[in-house]
Amino acid sequence: MKTQATSVADTQTTTAVGPIIFLGAPGAGKGTQAKLVAERYGIPQISTGEILRQNVARGTELGKKAKVFMDKGELVPDDLVFGMVAERLRNADCVKGFILDGFPRTLPQAEWLDALFADKFFANRCDKPPVVVNLVVGYNQLLRRLTGRRSCPSCGRIYNVYYQPPRVPETCDTEGSRLVTRKDDQESVISERLKAYEQQTLPLTDYYRRTGRLREINGDQEPEKVTLEAFSAIEHGNRV
Ligand code: AMP
Repeated sequence: MKTQATSVADTQTTTAVGPIIFLGAPGAGKGTQAKLVAERYGIPQISTGEILRQNVARGTELGKKAKVFMDKGELVPDDLVFGMVAERLRNADCVKGFILDGFPRTLPQAEWLDALFADKFFANRCDKPPVVVNLVVGYNQLLRRLTGRRSCPSCGRIYNVYYQPPRVPETCDTEGSRLVTRKDDQESVISERLKAYEQQTLPLTDYYRRTGRLREINGDQEPEKVTLEAFSAIEHGNRV
């Protein structure tokens, strides 16, 4: 039987939603929720972490430089990330809107993004201000989500050994592949990532709160409830 949120997510809407920014600590559920939002509104999910991991896997120049920081749980320097984001947002598939998952992550990144949206190319394309959805999750919960996270290297499906375990331990239900743990989900790296979040990303919530764009959601709730609240924040957020 389908959950309520899945059936709501299945119903695509056709209206342009504009930019959506997902904020939240590593493990807050940004990726999972952003995927459902992308499906509902028919817009791309742009995960800077995912684009960087693809670059690392392909061994590109960007990937080689970014890997040094990612392996330590540190943020990749802005000069590497800005070009990558600007190029991605210029794609035609972003016309109706897009979801940024994992960007911005610092105050300078948020200011850079505002300047980009004010640029003629983007301003002509979409006049909707971004809706910022902040997923708030307690520290202990974040730790369990990150240490328990596994993914299928074949289909990308995400599991959690505590909350959503596969039927056979460490094996993908659909592909039968052996599940993998992201390199930066190792316990030694997790604490660095959470520290980077607290010091560099958390101040962003104030930045967006001041502009009246921030929509806070309790990310500790059932995932389906979080999804419905995210849809509501997006649909009402643009009208403020
Ligand atoms: P994520 O998948 O969003 O947790 O990102 C994984 C890693 O990619 C982070 O720990 C950073 O090293 C890097 N990364 C992702 N997004 C950014 C960003 N906006 N700025 C700098 N580094 C990033």
